[in-house]
Amino acid sequence: MVETREQPFFVHSRNRLHHKILIIGGGTAGLTVAAQLRRKGESDIAVIEPSSRHYYQAAWTLVGAGTYNPDATVRDEETLIPKGVKWIQDYAEEIDPYQRTVTTRSNQQIGYDFLVVASGIQLDWHKIAGLEETLGQNSVSSNYRFDLAPKTWSFLQQFRGGTALFTAPSTPVKCGGAPQKVMYLTADYVRRKGLAGGTQVIFGSAGTTIFAVPEVKSVLDKVVERYSIQTQFHHELVAVDGSKKEATFEYTLNHPQVKANPGAPRPRVTIPFDFLHVVPPQSAPDFIKQSPLADPSTPLGWVEVDKHTLQHVRFPNVFSLGDSSNLPTSKTGAAVRKQAPVLVENLLQAIRGQNPKAKYDGYTSCPLVTAYGKMFLAEFLYDNRWHPTLPINTQKERYDMWLLKKHVLPVMYWQFMLKGLA
Ligand SMILES: Cc1cc2nc3c(=O)[nH]c(=O)nc-3n(C[C@H](O)[C@H](O)[C@H](O)COP(=O)(O)OP(=O)(O)OC[C@H]3O[C@@H](n4cnc5c(N)ncnc54)[C@H](O)[C@@H]3O)c2cc1C
Repeated sequence: MVETREQPFFVHSRNRLHHKILIIGGGTAGLTVAAQLRRKGESDIAVIEPSSRHYYQAAWTLVGAGTYNPDATVRDEETLIPKGVKWIQDYAEEIDPYQRTVTTRSNQQIGYDFLVVASGIQLDWHKIAGLEETLGQNSVSSNYRFDLAPKTWSFLQQFRGGTALFTAPSTPVKCGGAPQKVMYLTADYVRRKGLAGGTQVIFGSAGTTIFAVPEVKSVLDKVVERYSIQTQFHHELVAVDGSKKEATFEYTLNHPQVKANPGAPRPRVTIPFDFLHVVPPQSAPDFIKQSPLADPSTPLGWVEVDKHTLQHVRFPNVFSLGDSSNLPTSKTGAAVRKQAPVLVENLLQAIRGQNPKAKYDGYTSCPLVTAYGKMFLAEFLYDNRWHPTLPINTQKERYDMWLLKKHVLPVMYWQFMLKGLA
C-alpha cells in the first residue's frame, strides 16, 4: 500500500515511523477525533485507513427504500482527511501496546505515544451458512453493505407479495434500529402498492424484545401492530438456502423451550421467504480480537475501555470509541458524536500527564424510520435510560423528524462532524 499524502512526519531514532498520536481507522470516529485534535493544535497525528472511500452509512436504510441516492453516501477519503493529518493507506494488522507499535499489512511498523482505536465493526457474514453465496441474488439482501443497499430496493420493487422476512442477530450491531427500519419501510411500501393483503412480514430476531428502552418499545409495539408484523424473538438466523428461498433459525439460549430443556439440542425452524433482509452477526475486527487490547470477557473482542473516560483499562496511552469499543451502549454515529469530544479532552489530559476527567454518559440516538415520511428519534443513555434532548415530543412518529433524517443529519455529518465542528 502507498501513502497518498506528502505530509511531514517524525522519523523515530530507531529508524521507523513514529507519531505522537496514531489513529487506527479513518471512518466516522477516526476522522472526527483527528479533526478535533487538529483544532486543539495537535500537529503530529496519523490515521491508518485502508479505504480510499468513506461512507455515510446511516443513509443506507433510505437507499434500500429507494428514497436516497447511493452516490450521495460516498466521498473520497482523501478529501476528508483533515489538513495536517498524515494518511497511511494501509490495514493495521497487529497492535503491540507494550512496544507501542502497530504493524500494517504492508509490514510497516509504526510507533506511537498515544493510540486511538477506531476501526469499526466486522460484519461476520460467514457465520450464516449459505449466505455469502446468495447475497444480492434470490431476493436476499442487506442494507449493511454499500453495494447491497440498492439491491434491497430492486428486490422490493420486484416483490409481488408473500413472505418478507427480516433478521437481527444476537451480537451487538451497528445501529440497533437498522434491522427494523428496513422492515417498517417495506411494510409501508407494500401497503402503498396494495400488496399488504397478500404479504406476511416476519421479524426473526435473536433479541428478546422489539427494543430494550421501555419508552421506545411502547411506540414500536404499536408500529408492529399497525403493520401486523409477526415477531419471532429468540430466533438466530443460522443458514440461508437462496435457491430454495428458505431461512433456517436456531432458538437462542434465552428461548423458553431451550431454558426448559438445558443440554438438549437447540430446535431449528425453517421459514420460506419471498424477500429476505439479513443483518449479519458482528464483532470487533479480528486483529483487535487477537490483540492485548481486547476485552477478555467476550469472544467478540471489543477494545476494553473505561465506559466513562474511553481510556483503555490496562494501557493508559490507548483510547477507543465507536463501534470497535466495548462501550455498553448502542453503536451509532450519534454516539460517536458525543464520545469524540470526551476522548479528545481526556487524551489531551493524558498527554499533559493528568488523569482523564471528561465523562461520557452513554448517549446514543437512533432515528427510527417507521414509514415513508415518518420517523421518531430514540435518544437514550447507559442502562437504557430514555433521554430526549429536543424541545418537541420525540416519542411519536413525525414528519419533521423524517426531514431531519433525510436532509439535516447528512449535512451535519459531512459539514460539521467530520470537520470537528459538531
Ligand atoms: C445500515 C446502517 C444504518 C445505520 N444507521 C445509523 C443511523 O441512523 N444513525 C447513526 O448514528 N448511525 C447509524 N449507523 C451506524 C454508524 O454508521 C456507525 O455506528 C458509525 O459509522 C461508527 O463509526 P466508527 O468510526 O466506529 O466505524 P466506521 O465508520 O465503520 O469506520 C471504521 C473505519 O475503520 C476502517 N478499518 C477497518 N479495518 C481496519 C484496519 N485493519 N486498519 C485500519 N482501518 C481499518 C474502515 O475502513 C473504516 O473506515 C448505521 C450503520 C449502518 C450499516
